[in-house]
Amino acid sequence: MPTLATHTTCTGCMGCLNACPKGAIEKKVYPDGHFGIRVLKDACVECGMCERVCPIVNGISYGCLKRPKHTFAAWAEDEIVRRRGATAGIFGALALKLIRDGGCVAGVVMEGLDCRYILTDRPEEIARMQGSKYTASQPEFIYKEITVELRKGRPVLFCGLPCHVAALLSYVPKQLQERLLMVDIICGGVSSPLLIKRYVEEKRDVASIESFRNKEEGWRPTGYRYNLKYITSEGKIVATADEGRNLVTDGFACELTDRLSCYNCRMAFPSRKSDMTIGDLWGDRDFPGQHRDGLSSVLIHSEKGMEFLKDAGIHIEPIDAEKALIPNSRIFNGRSIKRYFPERLWLARGLRNLKYPALMKIYAGDLRSAGVFWWPFAAYRLLSFRLAEFVRKWQNRRLLHEMNNE
Ligand SMILES: Cc1cc2nc3c(=O)[nH]c(=O)nc-3n(C[C@H](O)[C@H](O)[C@H](O)COP(=O)(O)OP(=O)(O)OC[C@H]3O[C@@H](n4cnc5c(N)ncnc54)[C@H](O)[C@@H]3O)c2cc1C
Ligand code: SF4
Ligand code: SF4
Ligand code: SF4
Repeated sequence: MPTLATHTTCTGCMGCLNACPKGAIEKKVYPDGHFGIRVLKDACVECGMCERVCPIVNGISYGCLKRPKHTFAAWAEDEIVRRRGATAGIFGALALKLIRDGGCVAGVVMEGLDCRYILTDRPEEIARMQGSKYTASQPEFIYKEITVELRKGRPVLFCGLPCHVAALLSYVPKQLQERLLMVDIICGGVSSPLLIKRYVEEKRDVASIESFRNKEEGWRPTGYRYNLKYITSEGKIVATADEGRNLVTDGFACELTDRLSCYNCRMAFPSRKSDMTIGDLWGDRDFPGQHRDGLSSVLIHSEKGMEFLKDAGIHIEPIDAEKALIPNSRIFNGRSIKRYFPERLWLARGLRNLKYPALMKIYAGDLRSAGVFWWPFAAYRLLSFRLAEFVRKWQNRRLLHEMNNE
């Protein structure tokens, strides 16, 4: 039987599922709501293909503690494309260029309440892919589909989570990678899909999630106001920003339901094997005129990435790597002690057994109007989050010091 990643280390990338020639691997759901895999003993012929593709088992070194080749502040020149993006529409501009060049694009869409990758060469599909979906995405057989297109000689852009890019790199044969443009996002971790399930049970009439955050009230370099929007069965769009906190986006922000692998992410490096990394340029003070419509940070890791960026209708301004790295430490520090918090250790039980108001307090930090009974918990929450922040800052300083001494 193959030895694959464990519950603690598995990223749910589904590289093994794509690699198995016998269909001997199937997707399963862990009690905490995250996706994993199961090997079907009777169908397995012990060929070892899955172990070769699993980025955790094959030990792929996804990056290193070196400055990226180039770092830019950037935004899409097309206003509509820029506005649709969670940050500044960099993905949208790259995708539309690749389709104009005759290629296809793999990205994530919401299909009802499921978040999954699709592959397309239709420009009208790109708008659906734009915007961050703050939940675990399902790659299914996307690496296989991409390889089919690459074999036909078509260029492909893949934009997604770093751990999914690592699986793609392990799956696609080296000789086909020349036409593959790999863009990963700065990733702070993915929350449990059970947050959406419990939210929908509470609200009842939620057919699909329209968006998790948008820029109707502008983008700010100091952080983000989420605005969850959902579609009812009658097609009505409901915005929830004025309703206070919600389990989906505030649950994501609290980082207490992340995949176990996200608390020790092996893909968080300033220099990576992808061609380019995109995220928010938090903390910016140099481009105040660009904040309203969103400002991206773009880290370039390869010449291919640089060539493609130059020609994609994206305005770029070179910046020091530190400007992108220091305020956005998930780029280079994938660790968090929240993994050991009791809320995370008891997550599976909590998500199944707690009533919605208690879930909101514990997993979405909705403690502002909590009664006396909750005060000890509120004090614990304050102290535990401060501790996590303190440890993180200490780790960041150490990692940046190491990077500077490289
Ligand atoms: C779960 C998650 C955590 C993030 N954490 C951070 C962070 O800590 N710091 C930071 O600076 N930025 C973070 N981002 C990235 C940020 O939200 C924007 O996605 C990024 O800046 C790109 O913006 P854009 O406007 O160029 O592209 P967009 O139009 O927003 O699209 C970006 C791409 O992300 C893909 N995508 C969206 N949701 C998912 C998903 N769930 N799984 C896989 N791919 C997805 C889309 O398919 C699209 O290809 C995170 C994104 C996600 C999805
Ligand atoms: S060892 Fe081969 S047959 Fe068995 S699960 Fe892995 S890829 Fe499939
Ligand atoms: S290939 Fe991905 S899904 Fe499969 S075991 Fe490894 S990490 Fe988990
Ligand atoms: S934090 Fe790391 S392991 Fe978790 S989803 Fe992001 S890239 Fe994957």
